[in-house]
Amino acid sequence: MLSHTKKCPECGSRNVSLWMGGRLGIIYICKDCGYRGPLVVEEDVEN
Ligand SMILES: [Zn+2]
Repeated sequence: MLSHTKKCPECGSRNVSLWMGGRLGIIYICKDCGYRGPLVVEEDVEN
């Protein structure tokens, strides 16, 4: 099975959550390093 995951571009953590930033659009927040931004690394991982 392949599952699609999003990873933080700064620290590589998968502990990234989506935050709707209103006028700013979609922003992701990393709970591990505090990264905030529109970009994440999207990856297909085999379970
Ligand atoms: Zn991070």
